Amino acid sequence: MREGQEQSHQYYIYSWNVGKPYGLVRIHVAECGYCNDGRGKVYGPIKARGDWQGPFNFESASRLAKSLAVLDTRPCQRCMAQWLADQEKVAGAAHTSSPETDRAD
Ligand SMILES: [Zn+2]
Repeated sequence: MREGQEQSHQYYIYSWNVGKPYGLVRIHVAECGYCNDGRGKVYGPIKARGDWQGPFNFESASRLAKSLAVLDTRPCQRCMAQWLADQEKVAGAAHTSSPETDRAD
């Protein structure tokens, strides 16, 4: 994957049993094997049970995912692994330094 290509990605939201305690929501990149441009996994006898929505840009996808208010909401571990790693780095940095009080001494 090349750096700086995130903006050109399209994202899809997979939701299953929204409104139920065991519902889940996943954010996928369109090219993800689980997503297939919102068609879901194309092999196997079981058609995906959930709903696909998209494509969106990442901001819209995140907003929609949050709006569904499902506890188990996260980016796909497979196609968003790099994004998740970046988030952890950002979160880690936020714990060790605060931008407002950053000093060069
Ligand atoms: Zn995925």
